[in-house]
Amino acid sequence: MSETNGNDSNDIRKLLTSSGYSEKAINYFLEKKNLGSIPNADQVSELTGTCGDTMKVYLRVEDGRIKDAKIQVLGCPGAVASAMAAMDFIKGKTLEEAQRLKDRDIFRMLEDIPDQKTHCIRLTNKTIQKAIEEYRSNNGKNVKGK
Ligand SMILES: [Zn+2]
Repeated sequence: MSETNGNDSNDIRKLLTSSGYSEKAINYFLEKKNLGSIPNADQVSELTGTCGDTMKVYLRVEDGRIKDAKIQVLGCPGAVASAMAAMDFIKGKTLEEAQRLKDRDIFRMLEDIPDQKTHCIRLTNKTIQKAIEEYRSNNGKNVKGK
């Protein structure tokens, strides 16, 4: 009877489920555990997709391996869910492994999102690839004292 007892996330779940999001994708969207920034990150890269969704990824890189990854997302639930899943994927991977990340790997982690949201997955992967490329060009030539 009373719907005013703070069950907002249940309503959001229902809405997303009926829009075509899987349980797993919804959890990524609601938990947002990789959302945010890393202070003094080794690489920060930003990209805006054609839809206007914007992502800013923060990488902590040690000995060619991604030690930590966080991302800020301005976008739809599809963008948030894709970004969260992709951070889980690249954390602990080498830069080479992260470069082999395919859009379908992110889709597989999400299990299902609406068809019109595949651009969010593409933007997530593009943002990651841009960050790795920029990290390489920043650190390849002028090796910082270490
Ligand atoms: Zn989107």
